Amino acid sequence: MRNVIFLDRDGVINNNSLYYVYKPQDVVFNDGVFETLNIIQQKGFEYIVISNQSGISKGIYSKHDVEKVHNFMKQEFNKHSINILEFYYCTHHPEVENCLCRKPQTLLIEKAVARFNIDVSQSYFVGDKQTDLETAVNYGITPVLIEPNSNLKTIIGKIKFES
Ligand SMILES: [Mg+2]
Ligand SMILES: [Zn+2]
Repeated sequence: MRNVIFLDRDGVINNNSLYYVYKPQDVVFNDGVFETLNIIQQKGFEYIVISNQSGISKGIYSKHDVEKVHNFMKQEFNKHSINILEFYYCTHHPEVENCLCRKPQTLLIEKAVARFNIDVSQSYFVGDKQTDLETAVNYGITPVLIEPNSNLKTIIGKIKFES
């Protein structure tokens, strides 16, 4: 089975001061992201990104924009030998349409777990918002809450490594 670190995107992987990040050129990786994910990956964890992208529902940007951002991120992670299994995102906003996938709901995690044979008891959810923490708790995954746009290395001490 796989041990996975679920990652929120905006505020965790990239700086979200812009609020809506939907262009590759607006992606600013937060400090420590590559180093930290490298270290944790070497301990046997893999990564899945789970994010709310309600700007799609609101018509601010398109799914295509989000895919471009994710492809850019994948490329940058690959340069650092970091493999992201999948980027899952909710396209909805409750003011426009209801859904079952917007965090703190857990449908996206359920999909990931069904697809990737994940050991939930050995997995973590890293986020920068209360809704991320609630998502983790709602699914029974250990939450790790960080300050928005902070250096990701602070999570290393919160993850239990087998060896
Ligand atoms: Mg966030
Ligand atoms: Zn949704």
